[in-house]
Amino acid sequence: MSRVSTSPGAPKSHDTDPVAHPSADDDTPREACGIFGVFAPGQPVAHLTYLGLYALQHRGQESAGMAVSDGETLTVVKDMGLVSNTFDDRTLAALTGGLAIGQTRYSTSGSSTWRNAQPVYRGVDHFEFALGHNGNLVNTEALAAAAGMLPGTVTSDSDLVAEMLAAELRATPELEAGEAFDAALLTVLLMLRGAFSLVLADRDRIIGVRDPNGFRPLCLGRLDGGWVLASETPALDVIGAHMVRELDPGEVVVIDGSGCRSFHPFTSDAIDPTLCLFEFIYFARPDAVLYGQSVHHARVRMGEALAEQAPVEADLVMGVPESGMPAAEGFARASGIPYGQGLVKNRYIGRTFIAPNQALRAAAVRMKLNPLRDSIEGKRLIVVDDSIVRGTTTRAMVRMLRDAGASEVHMRISSPPYRWPCFYGMDTGSRGELLAASLTVDEIREYLNVDSLAYLTIDRLMASTGAVGAGFCDACLTGEYPVEIPSNLSESLLEPADLKDGSEKAVQTLGDDPHSGLPTDDAAKLFGRT
Ligand code: SF4
Repeated sequence: MSRVSTSPGAPKSHDTDPVAHPSADDDTPREACGIFGVFAPGQPVAHLTYLGLYALQHRGQESAGMAVSDGETLTVVKDMGLVSNTFDDRTLAALTGGLAIGQTRYSTSGSSTWRNAQPVYRGVDHFEFALGHNGNLVNTEALAAAAGMLPGTVTSDSDLVAEMLAAELRATPELEAGEAFDAALLTVLLMLRGAFSLVLADRDRIIGVRDPNGFRPLCLGRLDGGWVLASETPALDVIGAHMVRELDPGEVVVIDGSGCRSFHPFTSDAIDPTLCLFEFIYFARPDAVLYGQSVHHARVRMGEALAEQAPVEADLVMGVPESGMPAAEGFARASGIPYGQGLVKNRYIGRTFIAPNQALRAAAVRMKLNPLRDSIEGKRLIVVDDSIVRGTTTRAMVRMLRDAGASEVHMRISSPPYRWPCFYGMDTGSRGELLAASLTVDEIREYLNVDSLAYLTIDRLMASTGAVGAGFCDACLTGEYPVEIPSNLSESLLEPADLKDGSEKAVQTLGDDPHSGLPTDDAAKLFGRT
């Protein structure tokens, strides 16, 4: 028996809902998803999952859901919106059981609809399972075609994985259900390419999977009387669990009443650890631990390295709230220049509207960030941020600082220029949308209207993680993709950027109207890049 429900109200879509799309912060790659699982009979697993998902909310804000089993029934509750919108006391109290998995979603495959909210559920005869996914497959279309699926049969890569598992189950009616699911999982996992950290649940157990590259994090924790799986360690902390270890790339752990068992189904030549470098730079919470390193301390070291690499005389070092602040702290410490707050972030911003004109775009940014005039008036500022993706927010922020009286603005970025799109679970858009794909660093400086601009080098960035040699994906910075990208994907997102000519006139044009607030594509056109 199973139940799948939404709480509250009917299924709904955010596909065409303008308020569902973020527009005030387009200068950082957007997160993928957070996943969580707990096996703890006798404990309030739905409440524990709620807390775990709450701690992972930063990884996805489009939808949230959980699947809870009491041994007889696997119940899925999911809805669009935040964790706190999806569950209330009554819902959680009704979700009794001994195990649960959950997911917070940001869509990178499949649209942002209730149907694509997770966990994904399938029932085959008397067996049922649910699945939560963080990452992005790169062979979704090939797998769907190979399985003979008609268009529309599945609506996301996660849905495809669930459908493939269900098809394998249907094909092996002679096997006992649990045994059949194990065989199905083994078969399907070996067919997937790309990024997939997974949590799965049936009525009796939870399963954690990390792809052979380990693109997305997944850790194992121990709770009094139970086990926990989570994308990031703060989700363990919040429920009082302690970290056991990070799952290895290519590892599968199965947790049931007899304990926790580990498998390594992939061949050794398929294992190639390439954790997403942006987990360290931006995505993961600062209180997370990755490759055994504190993410916060790694970000502080990035700022220290940036100060050594690109010093400049100034009166104040400030970070762009909040992801730029640890690196700003490091920059200030290494440079000896005072650290202070120059921008205040509105903590209550969720999603904003698509601003139809420059005045409203500026208002959208101001709604999120507002300058502290007293701190910055007449000062030479060093402004530290973790990355620039499209550039529009950074440009608007610089204008705010100048309008508030900053005498100089020096931008320092704690990662190299973001030049290539991500295919492994981060939403960066096409190459044409990436500022650094079309413009040189000096052109970006002019576009942003800053006095100087420097990006941290890749070597210094790697050293700052404290995990040199552990294995990282840096494809969006270098263009070297660790898992091959099929041409049908790359053709649409890797259109070549012409870096050769036309910049001078464009710079002149921007000089005429330095605060026009044009989107990045338009900036690239102005520089003659498209
Ligand atoms: S391409 Fe960039 S954002 Fe994507 S997984 Fe690799 S390092 Fe992370």
